[in-house]
Amino acid sequence: MTVQKPVAVVTGGAAGIGWEIGRRLAADGHLVIAADRVPGLTGSGEDAGILWRELDVTDPAAVDRVFSGIEAEFGPIAVLVNNAGIQRHRGIEDLSWEEWTAVVDVNLHGVFACLQAAGRRMLEHGGGRIVNISSVSSRGSAGRAPYATTKAAVIGLTATAGAEWAARGVRVNAVAPGYVDTGVFRHGVEAGTLDLGTILSRIPAKRLGDATEIAAAVSFLVSDQAAYMNGQTLYVDGGFMVDY
Ligand code: NDP
Repeated sequence: MTVQKPVAVVTGGAAGIGWEIGRRLAADGHLVIAADRVPGLTGSGEDAGILWRELDVTDPAAVDRVFSGIEAEFGPIAVLVNNAGIQRHRGIEDLSWEEWTAVVDVNLHGVFACLQAAGRRMLEHGGGRIVNISSVSSRGSAGRAPYATTKAAVIGLTATAGAEWAARGVRVNAVAPGYVDTGVFRHGVEAGTLDLGTILSRIPAKRLGDATEIAAAVSFLVSDQAAYMNGQTLYVDGGFMVDY
């Protein structure tokens, strides 16, 4: 008899942190679908059977269509990880409207579209788990206004959805990573708004995070061990948020 695996959708799961989250959830026993605008899977290492579906999270109609297709093919979405995110690096006075809206579209509107589309389905199916990826930049980050703003908004949305759906079996929590050597961080270093030496001096653990350490927190939050957690944000940052 084939045992049906719970379906986990990871947005932006083709690369970086999302890729490692997918690998961890697959190892935990999920059927993982990386929903990404990047064609195919570009993360390194054994892919653990992760499937890919094309999705641009800024298009709510596409989100609905892709989620319906996934459910028709594989069964109810049990887990959503809202991981897709982008950066634009510029001071507020020089930031263009296009740069502002590009980040808000992916990091906030995209997160809401996926949370709502998956949440509605989970409520219908009687339960589910959602993890939104925020950031330590949610406390404010010079040169990255839209990024910091959207990552703070994600914490508010997480708390609100966590409270609204707690009694109906849908748990919503967030993970706020510190600095990890993947796409979003590398763009900052290349753009000159993130300086590796300065950052390392401000991290009590004196090292960058590893994507597998972010994935471990997501794995915990979607597991039954976190059954009493709703609306929370877990910081995985080597102590960065401590006043140090
Ligand atoms: P990456 O750029 O390595 O991976 C993000 C993936 O999401 C890429 O494949 C990207 O595609 C995809 N993506 C971007 N926009 C969309 C979209 N509209 N629809 C679907 N997929 C999209 O980023 P990271 O792994 O570094 O970051 C992952 C998450 O972690 C982000 O939310 C980020 O903000 C957060 N984070 C990262 C930190 C870090 O230090 N790296 C620290 C704190 C939080 P494309 O390449 O085309 O953009």
